[in-house]
Amino acid sequence: MESIAQALQQVKGRIDRAIAHSGSAPGSVALLAVSKTQPAAAVRQAHAAGQRAFGENYVQEALAKIEVLADLRAQLEWHLIGPLQSNKTAAVARAFDWVHSVDRLKIAQRLSEQRPASLPPLNICLQVNISGEASKAGLWPAEVAGVAQAVAALPGLHLRGLMSIPAPAADPAAQRAPHRALRELLAALNAQGLGLDTLSMGMSDDLEAAVAEGATLVRVGTAIFGRRA
Ligand SMILES: *Cc1c(COP(=O)(O)O)cnc(C)c1O
Repeated sequence: MESIAQALQQVKGRIDRAIAHSGSAPGSVALLAVSKTQPAAAVRQAHAAGQRAFGENYVQEALAKIEVLADLRAQLEWHLIGPLQSNKTAAVARAFDWVHSVDRLKIAQRLSEQRPASLPPLNICLQVNISGEASKAGLWPAEVAGVAQAVAALPGLHLRGLMSIPAPAADPAAQRAPHRALRELLAALNAQGLGLDTLSMGMSDDLEAAVAEGATLVRVGTAIFGRRA
């Protein structure tokens, strides 16, 4: 069986080839290893192989893992990429470095108020329902500019950019379309002076399409850790 270290190398190879193909600068795409449902031991193995940024979906599971891995805390970056309810914001504001899944101003206000002053501002991406699916989390594209301006003004937060989870698509052109739409939305915000630097898009099955459209961070779980139970 392939090790986590080998799988990480393969994913980095995919990212590097996609970057070369797109003509972007080498090293311009960060890799977030999505460790949801994986044991802390798997995070340790990925850390030993050089990985530093990890993504989690479920707050309780993540808090337990962060605690078990407290000895590595200063070296790791923890990103929440799953849904966040109001009653969990205080714990998240204390424990995480990034939240990618903010889709309501109220959640951002709570995170800002609850972020400890001893920590740097919490890095934030606004989640956008870019494929327009009725069932999906995320702001509608038309709502994003208003929420972004308000979030950018909150003192405990550092608004970094946008995140999306498009509807799955098999062919590369169909994969690229929602990623392109998210890139254009980010460009429109920056034209309003927001200075955002992060496009969190692309997963195991579509990271090449996301990099081709300018992703700065890809979120990869299965291709690193194997299938989730
Ligand atoms: C699970 C998850 C991922 C990783 O998906 P894979 O297909 O396993 O790479 C990325 N982003 C979000 C928001 C997720 O929930």
